[in-house]
Amino acid sequence: MTSWSRRLEAADRKPGLASRPAARDLLADATDAGVGEDAMAGLRALVAVARDREGFRQRVVVRGTHEGEPGDLTFEVAHVDGGAAVRNLGPLRSAATGGGAEPPADGEEDDGGHIVQILTDTLVETPDLVAVFSSVGHEAMWANDAFATVIPVRAEDKVWLVELLDEWSKGHYEVKVLPALVKYGRWRGRLTLMTGEGERHVSVVIVAHRDKRGEIEAVSMVARDTVDAPADDGAEDLEKARFAALVESASELIAVASPEGAITWASPAALRLMGRTEDDVEGFNALDLVHPDDRPESLLDLVRPDDQGVGVPVDVRLQVGDTTRHLEVIVTDLTENPVIGGIVLNARDITERVLSTQALAERAYTDALTGLPNRMRLLDRAAKALQDAPEAPLGVLILDLDRFESANELHGQEAGDEVLRQVADRLAAEVREPAVVARHSGDQFVVLVPGQGDRAELLRLANRLRTVVALPVAVGDASVEVTTSVGVLVGAGVDEPEQLLRDATRALAHAKDEGGDRVEVFTDELAAVASRRQTMEQHLRQALDNDGIDAHYQPIVDLASGDVVAAEALLRVHDSGGQLLNPAELIEAAESSGLMTRVGLSVLQATAEQLAAWSDVEGAPGEVSVNISPKQLADPDLPSRVGEVLRSAGVPPEKLLLEITESILISQHPTVDAAISYLRALGVRIGLDDFGAGKSSLGYLKRFPLDFVKIDRSLVAGLGVDEQDTAIVRATIELAQNLGLEVVAVGVETEEQREILELLGCQRAQGYLFAPPAPAGDLTTG
Ligand code: C2E
Ligand code: MG
Repeated sequence: MTSWSRRLEAADRKPGLASRPAARDLLADATDAGVGEDAMAGLRALVAVARDREGFRQRVVVRGTHEGEPGDLTFEVAHVDGGAAVRNLGPLRSAATGGGAEPPADGEEDDGGHIVQILTDTLVETPDLVAVFSSVGHEAMWANDAFATVIPVRAEDKVWLVELLDEWSKGHYEVKVLPALVKYGRWRGRLTLMTGEGERHVSVVIVAHRDKRGEIEAVSMVARDTVDAPADDGAEDLEKARFAALVESASELIAVASPEGAITWASPAALRLMGRTEDDVEGFNALDLVHPDDRPESLLDLVRPDDQGVGVPVDVRLQVGDTTRHLEVIVTDLTENPVIGGIVLNARDITERVLSTQALAERAYTDALTGLPNRMRLLDRAAKALQDAPEAPLGVLILDLDRFESANELHGQEAGDEVLRQVADRLAAEVREPAVVARHSGDQFVVLVPGQGDRAELLRLANRLRTVVALPVAVGDASVEVTTSVGVLVGAGVDEPEQLLRDATRALAHAKDEGGDRVEVFTDELAAVASRRQTMEQHLRQALDNDGIDAHYQPIVDLASGDVVAAEALLRVHDSGGQLLNPAELIEAAESSGLMTRVGLSVLQATAEQLAAWSDVEGAPGEVSVNISPKQLADPDLPSRVGEVLRSAGVPPEKLLLEITESILISQHPTVDAAISYLRALGVRIGLDDFGAGKSSLGYLKRFPLDFVKIDRSLVAGLGVDEQDTAIVRATIELAQNLGLEVVAVGVETEEQREILELLGCQRAQGYLFAPPAPAGDLTTG
């Protein structure tokens, strides 16, 4: 008996699945071979299937006769163009020994055919419900007795597998079973069948069978009764139900989706986030919600296992309506897992955390006093502007309040803060997008104007800003007025934000050098000066490291006697080729690079040592004056350092004179008065250098406690030539004498100048007429 015959007996007895009558014509061979009616019925069923199924080919072993001998025969039923074909391949045994029937196709062994027979018999006999459906569960093709008994449908009804299921199982079949069959070729789980007598809960294995092209040509189902409905069946299902409840109530966002993002399942929390319901989530593409900048091509791109294979969270932004949510997602590829069959997204909403971190970062980027972007944000913005439009120009204005420190001193720190706040507000009100204003440092503000390359425009803006800053600021009962210096840079082709600021600052420094309260633009000339300054700075650094800071000494003579009474120490530095570098440039570079204090101290030390050395030498200068730059004088440590240098060299303070410039007096730097008094108290004499070179005012001579004044060589050059110059020199000498100050004329080159100076009552002079600056040794040997 074959499985087929058994099956069709059952079908004949009951309204069930039956063969198609037209198959009889094709089965003449089988009739001739004396195949019994049972087996014929099975062959007919196969023919029915073969007709409609392209690529169908099936062998069965049936009882019959071959050359008058009874035995097992192999028949092949296959789909051919226009229908089905049946072939008698001959006796099973003779095929195995190489005679009779054709060798089995596809390397199939005859023993295999035998086993197929045994298995088929088993399937027929088993009390489990077994059925074969075409395609992925379309029409029923075959069913065993148990199945046909339970499910009251007939073949001509062309019943689909899903139609045998209850509503829950139907959905489950679509969502879980089908994808698993397509992907893995099998599914195991629980379903509920609708039988004539009602529901029947079954535990099911469904296997997909593929044709040569890999298409699913049929699925077979083996179902066994279970007691309970799928959802709450037994301990395992209880466990599942518990798990499901946990997942459902968890705040974690869990979803299962295809690699392309199509959701197959989502937890309630995930549904809420996506603004979906269970009913409309399926097929909804999760990737559509992802912020375009974070969106991967496939969810698989977000799978990040660490060394141990544990998923590492990935930060992803979701765009839900108008709001952006930040998620931390662990993506696990469980497509190979037959139960899950998809990509599992396990996410936490970290929006609050991200926002508070952002707020903190925002604070780090904001100046606490004024609320303006700070230097860090400024550099960031500049970098972004340069990156976004590398070719576009970028206007930079750097503003520095003039003498803000004095205002601070005068009105107090709080008033100073108030001034800064109000200045910030005024600047912010004046500056329009896309320009930004930031507080760069202390009393410096920077305005970036992306895309602005028009110098005249930038100058106009700079002057407008100067005007609004200059308006009085009310601080308590007082009214404070500050002026501003502005450095302007028309940036183009620059790729470093720091360079932009550096160049703008150079223009600002120039504005300050020119007296402040003005705007200066960074030019090629300034760039050349800046680069020259940089070279000088390098020389200075080398000199400082290698004991290369030297001084030359220029004699100062007593005009009445013609004796050398003193000398001026002048900084000298050689380059690597032994050439002397320009002292004025060196001093500028030292001032702007912050090296001035070290350089100045070296000159002081050299001078003190030289004075000590000269103390025993006949005819050597008895006193030496040293130039002190504004930066040095502003250093509160200067007086004590001078004291220290003199002490360690063993030189009495009376031998040292210090020359300061008017610029430091004009700046009203708060420490200057104190420094001058302290140094004079030490016994060091202080004089005003370069008098008459700038905006000199005789008033300074009265206002500050000084010991001497040096008349600038530009005035000396005019003696006897320029009446005005001569008049100024005369007035200066007269006033100085009245105030008890000694007068030294600088740059005396001619006998005529010397005579006039002597006539006017000037006591001392220095200049090429007497001697140029020279190494210390030259002053005593010559
Ligand atoms: P200064 O203090 O006015 O020094 C006098 C300058 O005039 C010196 O220039 C000197 O060589 C020059 N000189 C002297 N006699 C004549 C003359 O008859 N004709 C002409 N045409 N020039 C004469 P030097 O050495 O080039 O120094 C330039 C400036 O650099 C100094 O001007 C001073 O301001 C500054 N400097 C030099 N050494 C130091 C230093 O150690 N510290 C500081 N802070 N500044 C220094
Ligand atoms: Mg000098």
